[in-house]
Amino acid sequence: VRVAQTSERVQQRIIAVASGKGGVGKSTLSANLAIALARSGRKVGMVDADIYGPSQPRLLGVEGIKAEAHDKKLVPVATGVGVPLLSMGQLVPGGQAIAWRGPMAAGALTQLVDAHWEMVDTLVVDMPPGTGDVQLTMIQKHKPAGAVIVSTPQDLALIDATRAIDLFTKAGVPIIGLVENMAGYCCPHCGGLSDPFGTGGAEAKAETLSIPFLGRIPLTIDIRTASDAGTPPAAGNGAEAEPFLSIAAKVGD
Ligand code: ADP
Repeated sequence: VRVAQTSERVQQRIIAVASGKGGVGKSTLSANLAIALARSGRKVGMVDADIYGPSQPRLLGVEGIKAEAHDKKLVPVATGVGVPLLSMGQLVPGGQAIAWRGPMAAGALTQLVDAHWEMVDTLVVDMPPGTGDVQLTMIQKHKPAGAVIVSTPQDLALIDATRAIDLFTKAGVPIIGLVENMAGYCCPHCGGLSDPFGTGGAEAKAETLSIPFLGRIPLTIDIRTASDAGTPPAAGNGAEAEPFLSIAAKVGD
């Protein structure tokens, strides 16, 4: 990663990817959205602010690689999918629990955001789930241009998503839209479709809240295995890339 030597700093457009609860696919969407935006010509960087379970180093295939500092600022780690990364996971030794109190976590977030991002125009931030100190720092100090909210179609997940939406809206951060993940499972054996978490719930919720619905991502084994292998589906040319490319087109500018 090249570090710009000039003082001119391009103001990045920060897109926060958030969810009300964990396990709904927020990190998966963040990685694939970042890659899809990069494929559409933007210079994209990723900040993994998910302090409770930093998964971007694995998703972007750079697990175990530490970030170096230059002039007291962190230098993003290059990845094989064209999206440089800084992660909470790079600030602590692998496998150790991060048991920071709010102010420490918020300070760590600022180190990740105020880093050598001179080469990017868009910063995708994978937020921790919920509505805590890291979220407040992100909103108040780093002022995202907008937030993408991820939910499964399930009632409970949607109720939590509504809280996350409320937090951003009250702080004046525009909601770019809602994504429904894990909607519909296509059985690899019989080809039959089923809906383990229901379907359509997020679209209906988006309509009720008058926010854009950005799209639906199916629950597939391919998405899970590609993610675990450090080559998120949006980086490939398979059918799994399509929902992410379509969502990225709507996130656009
Ligand atoms: P979160 O960031 O909300 O905690 P993750 O993105 O880590 O959620 O996803 C949780 C788990 O679900 C991961 O193992 C991930 O690979 C898997 N997963 C997420 N979205 C899908 C999907 N659409 N199809 C299959 N597996 C998925």
